Amino acid sequence: MKIVVQKYGGTSVGTTEKIKQVADKIIKKREEGYRVVVIVSAMGKTTDELVSLAKAVTEQPEPREMDMLLTTGEQISISLLTMALISKGYPAVSYTGPQLYIQTTSSHQKARIKDIETSKVMNALENDKIVVVAGFQGVTEDQEYTTLGRGGSDTSAVALAAKLGASCEIYTDVDGIYTMDPRKLKKARKIDRISYEEMMEMASLGAGVMHYRAVELANKYKLPLYVGSTFSNVKGTMIAHGGSEVMEETVITGMASSLDDIQITVLNLPSSISSLYRLFGQMGEKEVNVDMISQMITDDGKMYVSFTIPKDDLSIAEGILKEWQQEDPLLRWEVNTDIAKISVVGLGMRTHSGVAAKVFEILADNNIAIKIVTTSEIKITFAVDKIHEEKVIELIGNAFELVVAE
Ligand code: ADP
Ligand code: ASP
Ligand code: MG
Repeated sequence: MKIVVQKYGGTSVGTTEKIKQVADKIIKKREEGYRVVVIVSAMGKTTDELVSLAKAVTEQPEPREMDMLLTTGEQISISLLTMALISKGYPAVSYTGPQLYIQTTSSHQKARIKDIETSKVMNALENDKIVVVAGFQGVTEDQEYTTLGRGGSDTSAVALAAKLGASCEIYTDVDGIYTMDPRKLKKARKIDRISYEEMMEMASLGAGVMHYRAVELANKYKLPLYVGSTFSNVKGTMIAHGGSEVMEETVITGMASSLDDIQITVLNLPSSISSLYRLFGQMGEKEVNVDMISQMITDDGKMYVSFTIPKDDLSIAEGILKEWQQEDPLLRWEVNTDIAKISVVGLGMRTHSGVAAKVFEILADNNIAIKIVTTSEIKITFAVDKIHEEKVIELIGNAFELVVAE
C-alpha cells in the first residue's frame, strides 16, 4: 500500500472555498493510486484568535486550559475538510490527536510526541477511506490534551509519516523554501533541494515556513520532505540528506531573521565558572531557551554576560535574576527588546572561510553595529538594532547571491 501524508497549513484551509480546493488536491492524489492521510491546521488565523480570546479573559492563562482551547481550532478544519471529501464522493474520516492516541509529554503548549497508535488509521486506509487528522495536538498518558507549540502541525505530519512508513508532503502558501522569507526579501530565490541540517538551522533561526522539530524528526528518520504550494503546481523544495551539486558551489544557502528575541546583559556577576553554571542552569530548569551568549571579565574582576532569549521568556528570566539580586544587591541587568537576530546558513561554510569577515565588512561599511554574534560550523548569527533589519537583509542577500539573478 503506497501511503502519503499530506499536510495543509492554516492559510491553505483559510476559507470553505479553499477547503473544497484542498479536497480536490487530495482526491487527485488518491486517484494516482495513493492511500492518503491528511494533517490539517486550524483555518486561517483561528489559533491567533483563540489566543486573543484567552488574553482578553486573563493575562496569564493556565497552560492546560490554553491547550483545551487551542485544540478546538483544528477540530473545525478536520471536520469541514472531511465533509468536503465525502460530498465529492470519497469516503473519509476525521480524527483528533487524542482519538488517535498521539501520545505526548505533559508539557502543555510545548509537548513532544512520544508515540502514535496507528491501528485506527491503518484500518480506515484498508477500508479505502481518506484519513484526516488534526495537526498540532496530542494527549498525555493521563488523557490531558496537549499542543506541540505554534506551527506544530508540520511535526504531527512528519511523526505520522515516519510511523506509517509513508512519504510526506507539506503544502503551504509559498511554493517552496526560499533563500529568505519572501515577505522580508522580495527577490529571494527558491531552493530546489536543501539539507536537513541547513533547514534545521533556518527553522530554528526564524524561517517560520517549517516547524523546527518537524525537520529534526525527518532527519532522525531520514524521511525526505517535499514542501510546495497548495494552490499552484510549481515544483517545490525537497528537504533531504546532503545537498545538490549546485549547493556545494554555494557557500551560503539561506538566511533567516527573527524579531522574537531580546538581549539581556547581566553586569557585576562574580567572575567564576559557577556563576555561569548557576545562571544558565536556572534558565535551563525553567525551560528558557538561551541562544547567543557572550561573556567578558571586566578590569575589576567582575564578569558581564550577554545573552539572547525568546521575548516570551523575559518575565521568567527576570524572575531568576531578581531572586539572585536579593542575595547579591550589586547584580544588575539591562534588557534590549529592539534587536533583530539575523543568520546566514550554509553547508559550504565547512569548506570555505571568510564568510564572517565578509558579513562584518558589509556591516562596517554601512555603519551598522553588531550587538552580539555567535557562529557554528554552518551558520553565523548576529544581532543588530531592529531598525536595520530590512537593510541588512538586502545587503547580505545581494552579497551572497541569495536573490534571483537580474
Ligand atoms: P502554514 O500555515 O502553511 O503552516 P506558515 O505561515 O507556517 O504556513 O509558513 C509559510 C510562510 O513562511 C510563508 O508565507 C513565508 O512568508 C514564511 N517563510 C519564512 N521563511 C521562509 C523561507 N525561507 N522560505 C519560504 N517561506 C518562508
Ligand atoms: N494551528 C497551529 C498554529 O497556528 C498549528 C499550525 O498551524 O501548525 O500554530
Ligand atoms: Mg506553519
